Amino acid sequence: MLIETLSVFPELFEPYMSTSIMGRARARGLFDFKSYDLRDWTHDRHRTVDDAPFGGGAGMLMKVEPLHDAITDISSRGDVRPCVVFFTPCGVPFTQHVAERLSSVERILFVCGRYEGMDERAYALADERLSIGDYVLTGGELPALVVSDAIIRLLPGALGNDMGSVDESFSTCEDGGLLEYAQYTRPADFNGNAVPEVLLSGDHSKVDAWRRASALERTCRWRPDLIESARLTNGERVLATELITRFHGSKAGEA
Ligand code: SAM
Repeated sequence: MLIETLSVFPELFEPYMSTSIMGRARARGLFDFKSYDLRDWTHDRHRTVDDAPFGGGAGMLMKVEPLHDAITDISSRGDVRPCVVFFTPCGVPFTQHVAERLSSVERILFVCGRYEGMDERAYALADERLSIGDYVLTGGELPALVVSDAIIRLLPGALGNDMGSVDESFSTCEDGGLLEYAQYTRPADFNGNAVPEVLLSGDHSKVDAWRRASALERTCRWRPDLIESARLTNGERVLATELITRFHGSKAGEA
């Protein structure tokens, strides 16, 4: 996989992309990474990438020409055209499901906004528009790193243990879209707060059952919105309704 970024702060990416799991996966050739400076596609002395919005209003907008020229040029390099992903708070919410889908794309170009956003005409070059949440950041560089991290750790071999990402929160593989179960490590008793006995029993089927119940309970408590689309047995669905009612009141349980 080749991950590329286009932004006005290309230097922000390298430290993260060469550290820890990202760095090891990259060194082992699981992905390659390149960052481009949008200003390299400007033609004026000041390397201008922004301008005031038509119609007035606060702030500046990223100009369409450098974005168009940069994306067209970068896309024409190499054998495979990239999937061009623009970051904007107005995009489709980024989820684990989107990460799983993007992890099988051969080449991705992340386009990072700054200022008050972009000239709307630039979005004609986007294959996808992604938002990483309902809040506004100063730029698309953190979203590009967030999405890259979520994708790269799904690449086979990236975590050193391919099962590592299978039963995590939101995973569509094993746990059917629930949050991850509670986990503990030593000591077994911390200031009188003991780890559930079953986890020390060595009985794997009991441990699995406990983890499933824990995942269901935590999802009902913290993210009841995930329950509707989770893959549950009939019994679990009845239990989930009871748990949601207990945690959030009767209206939520009926929803
Ligand atoms: N004026 C824009 C709005 O209200 O939608 C916000 C622009 S924001 C200050 C500048 C850039 O940061 C955006 O173009 C986008 O690339 C990035 N950005 C900010 N928040 C984001 C989010 N939640 N998800 C994805 N990108 C975001």
